[in-house]
Amino acid sequence: MRGFYPELERVTVRVGLARKRGVLGWGSLDPDHPGIWVRPRRLEAFTIAHELTHLLQARGLVPRGERACDLWALARSPLLVDACPGYLRVPVELYRLRPLPPRDAALLHRAAHRAIDARDRGVRGYLRHFEQDVAAACRDALPAAPAVAKARALQLVTPAGLVARGAARLRSRPR
Ligand SMILES: [Zn+2]
Repeated sequence: MRGFYPELERVTVRVGLARKRGVLGWGSLDPDHPGIWVRPRRLEAFTIAHELTHLLQARGLVPRGERACDLWALARSPLLVDACPGYLRVPVELYRLRPLPPRDAALLHRAAHRAIDARDRGVRGYLRHFEQDVAAACRDALPAAPAVAKARALQLVTPAGLVARGAARLRSRPR
């Protein structure tokens, strides 16, 4: 895991247990006290990647914010993407896949890089850029579905559904 984070090579990272109910992990934003807290019983590589990325944020190496944290964790390596991000919105059909198949991990990883490149070029709304990019890629990848299945898929992405999903995920990964 640490091999993916050469910036933390000389940093001692304390690892603790996240005990708070409904919390997948925490990462310290205090550069003087680097630490992550995770749940061993439900531990995905992407959760660790997300929390380690908070340590990069603490050092000013990654922009602040949970969504940016997700994006930079996705961009690190497709090997770390065994689950979907908790703060960036991804299509529901992708979000349900655990572990995430390598093909979908690569899709998210590439989209994260495109969004970071866009930010480097001065594009505003690069996080939104990522979400639209992934949604479009999933639409293109979907096999032709019968009309009924399509209608159900559409129903899943109504604004109300998205809000509910977003709120549920905020509770599950608050930092
Ligand atoms: Zn976080």
